[in-house]
Amino acid sequence: MAGHIVLRNGAKMPLVGLGTWKSPPGKVAEAVKAAIDCGYRHIDGAHVYQNESEVGMAIRETLKRQVVKREDLFIVSKLWSTYHEKDKVKGACQKTLSDLNLDYLDLYLIHWPMGFKPGKELFPVDEKGNVIPSDTDFVDTWEAMAELVDEGLVKAIGVSNFNHLQIERILNKPGLKHKPVVNQIECHPYLTQEKLIQYCQSKGIAVTAYSPLGSPERPWAKPEDPLLLEDPRIKVIANKYKKSIAQVLIRFLTQRNLVVIPKSVTPTRIAENIQIFDFELSSEDMTTLLSYNRNWRVCDLESSWMLPNVKKCWIGEEGLLNQTHCAQTLLTTRAGCGDSPTSYTKTGWATPNLEIASHFSDRHHRDGRGVLQLCGSWASNLSGKLRPLRP
Ligand code: NDP
Repeated sequence: MAGHIVLRNGAKMPLVGLGTWKSPPGKVAEAVKAAIDCGYRHIDGAHVYQNESEVGMAIRETLKRQVVKREDLFIVSKLWSTYHEKDKVKGACQKTLSDLNLDYLDLYLIHWPMGFKPGKELFPVDEKGNVIPSDTDFVDTWEAMAELVDEGLVKAIGVSNFNHLQIERILNKPGLKHKPVVNQIECHPYLTQEKLIQYCQSKGIAVTAYSPLGSPERPWAKPEDPLLLEDPRIKVIANKYKKSIAQVLIRFLTQRNLVVIPKSVTPTRIAENIQIFDFELSSEDMTTLLSYNRNWRVCDLESSWMLPNVKKCWIGEEGLLNQTHCAQTLLTTRAGCGDSPTSYTKTGWATPNLEIASHFSDRHHRDGRGVLQLCGSWASNLSGKLRPLRP
């Protein structure tokens, strides 16, 4: 297996990268140095992780030691939701470049499809604790992202946490100059994302799998949550190959042609996580791992954004919504982060009266009744406007 995939823009993207979310300043620089020293050439970061200047210090130090050249590295960052206004995108990218002390990024992603009120707060909330949205449309944000490529600030652009419909909106944009090269989404044996991955790959969009180890240190973890790294069934597979569970989880994803970005600040684990090119999981074991899917998400908006006022709106079999930009939010909140492309056949964006098919939540709710979870102010603004078409 090659250690990289070739992106639509011809760039080689290393299959294993170092994740940096929750890697604290004070530890992340050592982690990045350790990673590059043991062969990583891909670092995944984001403005919202609030550690890009430390990551930059480590990269600078490694370049100075001539361990690698800049062109050998593949550096990824992400546009945060408070910068979705078109006139804010370039400044956000420049801030990341200056924090990282780099002239260009290899890949810049829209971190989430929905925009938040611009300002100093990364998670702006109203007096009730609801996240305050902006009325931006990610298709407009995409135009500003494309300018970054034209101006040479970034080599390629992509998206993260976009579902099939949202990607389709970008692809269908009249006069589209730069297509997304990557969609970064959560993926592991408890959230296998077959349909979204199949969709992206069929469109020439590479997929990066985040939280590949199940993100055990996420702040909202509950004691009853499943623990991928302790799954005895995966341990049996790992023993068979004389590998660790983490290595099997990472290899499982690369064998699906996915890029994988495990996070660690522990040098031994950083080294372990890239030693996955000397074994191959059998097709039976791949099928077995795929069968552990339970549509369980590390990053579901309800818990991960710790929004106090997430509301559930029952829309019966189908619902009608009146505001197009709010509809994006709807599609994001529950169906976002990846879902079945075929689930959306009844949805559309053309008219202000957007029909939303209930089935996009079927896969997440065993009763299949189509619950939509709306977050923040959107919930208060919209719940009254949803009405069942077929009560
Ligand atoms: P991961 O699934 O990568 O898990 C990281 C955790 O696993 C850490 O607690 C780490 O501990 C531990 N760990 C790492 N390697 C091993 C090992 N070999 N054995 C045992 N434990 C291990 O979690 P993340 O959620 O951080 O996802 C990875 C990256 O994906 C992020 O860091 C970020 O870059 C990206 N991401 C992107 C998102 C997006 O919205 N686009 C959302 C979430 C993540 P320790 O560090 O202490 O060694």
